[in-house]
Amino acid sequence: MQLRQHPLPSPTPGTQRELVSLHYGQPGQGQKVYIQASLHADELPGMLTAWHLRRHFDALEAAGRLRGEVILVPMANPIGLSQWWLQSHLGRFEGLSGENFNRHYPEHIEAAARHAESQLGDDPARNVAVLRAALKTEVQASPADTELKALRKTLMLMACDADVVLDLHCDAQAMMHLYTETPCWPQCEPLAAYLGAGVTLLATDSGDNPFDEACSQVWWKWAKHFGDRFPIPQACLSVTVELRGQQDVHHDLAAKDAQAIVDFLIHRGVIASDAPDGATPPVPAPVGDARPLAGSIPVPSPVGGVLTFLREVGETVREGDVIAQVIDPISGSVTDLKSPTDGLLFARDTLRLVTAGARVAKVAGREATRTGKLLGAR
Ligand SMILES: [Zn+2]
Repeated sequence: MQLRQHPLPSPTPGTQRELVSLHYGQPGQGQKVYIQASLHADELPGMLTAWHLRRHFDALEAAGRLRGEVILVPMANPIGLSQWWLQSHLGRFEGLSGENFNRHYPEHIEAAARHAESQLGDDPARNVAVLRAALKTEVQASPADTELKALRKTLMLMACDADVVLDLHCDAQAMMHLYTETPCWPQCEPLAAYLGAGVTLLATDSGDNPFDEACSQVWWKWAKHFGDRFPIPQACLSVTVELRGQQDVHHDLAAKDAQAIVDFLIHRGVIASDAPDGATPPVPAPVGDARPLAGSIPVPSPVGGVLTFLREVGETVREGDVIAQVIDPISGSVTDLKSPTDGLLFARDTLRLVTAGARVAKVAGREATRTGKLLGAR
């Protein structure tokens, strides 16, 4: 394993942060896997899972079982990790710009296509290599004059030419669930089964370019751009893995999740099987299914007050079911918050004090009913 340090530009004199990445296996041989933890620095299950993954990869590399390259970024956001306000940790939005750390990844699709076009041909594998090189050149050349931009650029440089990108996040209180782009679903399906995901939310262009979409969208957009002139496969599976809720930071869960990721990488052929007959871990029966992100409906509260939930995450609910109540302690009034659709209550808020207009839960229905930007701030 090679540990690399990536200094970020100093935002103010006397302070400087760095990003650390762990590099396993052989670059250029086999598939490339990129895994990062806690891009939202207040989402800690990913960091614990990354610690378990690190032990796996140390052992797998020593045993000669890595057939490709694995990059593990065990803590992807040193800026957010240092955001303390009095005794409270923040970590989701950058303080200077107010921007969400997992949005606004720059895209270089047209520029890379323009530079790669003369070298493209009938061989899909060669097209992939040419486009990856062109994309990497664009990312490398992109300006990064702030600490935030430099962080995004450093992460993208490591991930943009990977076959598999796993971005480890979590929700407030939630069951295991995934986000991926619709063209990635066939490759994602076994991962969802190994991880026991309750639901996988599918979209293309959900809005504001989160990290996972920035990595995978280049391929289906290039395929569209070049039409039938050149064969362009979906050469990157990129997934946001929501490792349940913010408080779900336990060794038993993290060990199970790390093992599921390792099993998936054996299934993908990135890690050699240690079974005598070379068998790969069987893909478990899926726990959940894939649903449109446009069918994942937030539950807003029209009033502020004390929030108390009547339903648990993981429950199937019907449209109109009361999921929570908001109590106004002064007037004594009670406001029912009802499910906007039939579906799976897969995530809800942690805070029990709600402000008027805030979204307190999410229900994944089967019908795509929402339009516009599909990802909220949370
Ligand atoms: Zn997150």
